[in-house]
Amino acid sequence: MKKRRRLNKVGKLALSGLILIMILFAFSLFPKSDDKFEEHVLKNEKYYDLKIDYPILHKQKIDEKIKKYIEKEKANFFEAVEAMKERKEDNKYDFIVQYQMHQEQEIYHIHITRYAYTGGNHYMRDDQTYHYDSKNQKFLTINDYLKESNDLEKLSTLSYYYIMKYGEDHQIQFDEEMVKDGLEAKKENFNHFYFDNSGLELLFPPYQVAPWCDGEIKIVIPYKEVNALLKKQYQQDTKDVLKEIIVPQKRNLDQFSGKKLIAFTFDDGPSTTTTNLLLDGLDKYQARVTFFVLGSRVSQNQDVLKRAYQEGNQIGSHTYHHRNLLRLSDYERMQEIRNTNEEIEKIIGVKPTLLRPPFGNINTDVKKLAGMHIIEWSIDPLDWKYHDKNKVADEIVKNAHDGAIVLVHDIYKSSVEGALLAMERLQKEGYAFVTIEEMTKLKNVTLDETTSYFHF
Ligand code: ZN
Repeated sequence: MKKRRRLNKVGKLALSGLILIMILFAFSLFPKSDDKFEEHVLKNEKYYDLKIDYPILHKQKIDEKIKKYIEKEKANFFEAVEAMKERKEDNKYDFIVQYQMHQEQEIYHIHITRYAYTGGNHYMRDDQTYHYDSKNQKFLTINDYLKESNDLEKLSTLSYYYIMKYGEDHQIQFDEEMVKDGLEAKKENFNHFYFDNSGLELLFPPYQVAPWCDGEIKIVIPYKEVNALLKKQYQQDTKDVLKEIIVPQKRNLDQFSGKKLIAFTFDDGPSTTTTNLLLDGLDKYQARVTFFVLGSRVSQNQDVLKRAYQEGNQIGSHTYHHRNLLRLSDYERMQEIRNTNEEIEKIIGVKPTLLRPPFGNINTDVKKLAGMHIIEWSIDPLDWKYHDKNKVADEIVKNAHDGAIVLVHDIYKSSVEGALLAMERLQKEGYAFVTIEEMTKLKNVTLDETTSYFHF
């Protein structure tokens, strides 16, 4: 008996040692917490704007592919900028890269949308989707998912049916020949796909199946129809996702009466890492803030968006792809606004009522079309330019005034830290930090859809 117990002790010791080694090993496999999972570039120069967001997976093959694509596109763009400068043209070009990422087991689906405005009437768009099997370190196409060689033909036929249905739902009269041409059974025509809870989602960029003015077309073919074409390991049952009802925390506004008020607003997120960092810091200053999120970033950062909303922060729209609304057709404007509102509603259950137009650019026509409340800002610490938390805090504190709206970006750690630092200092000066909705209640303002609000 005695001997056995001793052995048990030895065994336990060995086991805990083994666990420790395993934990250390696991940590060494994952990137350190300050390693980036995403890169953000924002520039606002005399001749051009640049806004690039792309993922870093810390997997060499895919990371290189993405970087190479962006570098090539950027080089082309700068060539156009140089040519414009040489012509002594008074214009401002614009370059945008946004992405969406979905993952199933070890396969990543990364869809990159690139917009370039280099004069003329509208942005040029390019779409790239990479399907990367990180286990086998290889790129996949739709053919890798399909069972038989003629299944692509079948997928094409199914897609045709769902596109026509999309047309009926959205009151678009498609040109049947154009749709058929765009759906010819070639793998390139079916490259923008991923699997969601209900089925295979396919995206067709402008021009592929419909003219540019109809924008992108997105369809979902339910599993019950597409399973027959898929290899066994990719077949799924439609998952019924229970609609979660989120009840946001409400604050008693009496506590703020007589205080000076500031509405901090955070653009260009959400971001799982940096937005969470901000949310962790707000309670210390009894602060609640407003987020103007990009529609394209909502689904891959949905948990942090839910948290922000549930904790009593306000969620507004910053459009889908961060394009200058003044350079878009009415239909594109509607798509930018409507798609973002739908993405947000899917996650938090309500549509946003606030809109912050990218670059603050808006006019009477776009306001009418949007039918939302337009929120601009009165304090801009240029956080995206300096990446310096002390400078961000100094600028905000220096310019602080009752009723101010502060613009910062929650995709940068330095901006989040700078904003929290400013709160710490402003709290001592008698300021309270409220959402736009709380601000309007406390100041007795009724928002209308024709005004742009810079402060209250
Ligand atoms: Zn922005």
